[in-house]
Amino acid sequence: MVEVPDDVAVAQDSRASRRMRQPLEWDKAMVAGLAEEQGVCVRPLVRRLVDRVTGEASTVVLPCGSTQESRCTTCAKRARVLRMHQCAEGWHSIDELPDTDLEPTIGAGDQEPDGDEDDGGESGRVVRSTRRRGDAADLPVRRMDARTVGRCFTAADGKVYRPSMFVTLTLPSYGRIVRGQGVPVDPGRYNYRRAALDAMHFSKLVDRWVQNLRRGAGFKVQYFAAIEPQRRLAPHVHVAMRGAIERQVIRAVTRGTYFQLWWPSFDVPLYVHRSPVFIDGAYRDPDTHQELKTWEEALADLDQNPDSKPAHVMRLGSQVDVKGILAGTKDADRTISYLTKYLAKSMSSPMGDGQQTGSPTAKHHDRLAAEVRWLPCTPGCGNWLRYGIQPKDAGPGLRAGSCPSKAHDAEHLGLGGRRVLVSRKWTGKTLDVHRADRAAVVRQVLEEAGVQVAERDRCAADVLAPDGEPRFVWSELPPGESSYNAAIFAQILQRQEWRAQYDKAKRATGRTGSLVDNRSATTARTPRRQCLDTQATGTL
Ligand SMILES: [Zn+2]
Ligand SMILES: [Zn+2]
Repeated sequence: MVEVPDDVAVAQDSRASRRMRQPLEWDKAMVAGLAEEQGVCVRPLVRRLVDRVTGEASTVVLPCGSTQESRCTTCAKRARVLRMHQCAEGWHSIDELPDTDLEPTIGAGDQEPDGDEDDGGESGRVVRSTRRRGDAADLPVRRMDARTVGRCFTAADGKVYRPSMFVTLTLPSYGRIVRGQGVPVDPGRYNYRRAALDAMHFSKLVDRWVQNLRRGAGFKVQYFAAIEPQRRLAPHVHVAMRGAIERQVIRAVTRGTYFQLWWPSFDVPLYVHRSPVFIDGAYRDPDTHQELKTWEEALADLDQNPDSKPAHVMRLGSQVDVKGILAGTKDADRTISYLTKYLAKSMSSPMGDGQQTGSPTAKHHDRLAAEVRWLPCTPGCGNWLRYGIQPKDAGPGLRAGSCPSKAHDAEHLGLGGRRVLVSRKWTGKTLDVHRADRAAVVRQVLEEAGVQVAERDRCAADVLAPDGEPRFVWSELPPGESSYNAAIFAQILQRQEWRAQYDKAKRATGRTGSLVDNRSATTARTPRRQCLDTQATGTL
């Protein structure tokens, strides 16, 4: 059974799809272009939906939901707008969120971890690194206030200002770069390994920076951060932060922040032309069948050796851009747009399209891609086999160079994880709830105008039949039974229907303005898996 996403485009029993029985035999590329132009998903998924109570079967078209423009411009744009909305809603809040909102909620994938995670948090071990490095600059420390919002300032004329911050952090240099081109002056001396590792663990360094900043600023600073590629193909991060923080504190924290990766050393590959084999529940040397060191053993070695060093140490670059932003100004709006500008672009996008193989830019990209491919991304990564270590919780089928994590591919260049990092009390809502808010705005307009909104939760996977089993069964459609063109046309017709209904409702209720405003139409509503109603915002 397939879980029902929030956004469902069309069911076959709708008026839209009845008109669609005989899809035109158009060229696929043309239809894709039309989808883009009409603002519907370019790569929709088609599913079979069976109602076990009525016995009715229908075909449902779901948007792909990609955040990447290269996959689907429509879904990526929609995802970006949702992020802009999330960013705007939390940036200049003046109210403290109640503590109950701190509870982890579903779909909290991009939310920060609970509390201060230590360097080895991922491996679950107790870490030796609570002592600060001797070579690190001092960090400012201030008494902590129990607040997450910034202070307001009242001017002589009585006007109240709510200043917030916008900070851009970069990674250090890996070698000199040709100005304006983003390629190394001397590729032979460019530190690709360091560049690759820094990209792979960048979000951990940002998390650490935030922890340090909170101590330095003296309150629980909330942030919305977007990680983007620079021209040299290294990630950098734009951070919107709530509240005013002194520039010198931000600079000192940036200088003093580092992240240590307490993993077994992986400097020297041991298995390059031969691969370890999985026999009797363990990875072994292909010739001697001697068992490789397990992940736990390798970590124990690290703990027992008083001279052991972290596998990798990361710092931020000295370039840090700090800007004060005032709530409610044009500048604040412009900054949100800037902040989310590249979220829909892949990490390799600065390279641009149509790069000639062998051009300095393509070579630079390929060299970095080759590096990220073989480095371990997590304790469970198959690449550990290359370094003679059994990955954490290793089962059969692992191979160095074949780890499925996005971190290793040429498009992501090390950055396989989160592109947006949001603190828990930014809005206190998950992205799902933000999405539901937007849907609720549309629903409200329709309901106020007396338009019957399609039965909510009609196809939800958690609706039960009288026998106690799920009423609606979702399944993949066998290939050949669905036509791409039909799916696209169905979406377009459905969208037009909704658009017309919505415009009519707006006229009837005398509402004007954009579809989505800043108010929240729902409060603390648990997002239900729902069917035909959320498509209103999904496709409008
Ligand atoms: Zn899509
Ligand atoms: Zn991996």
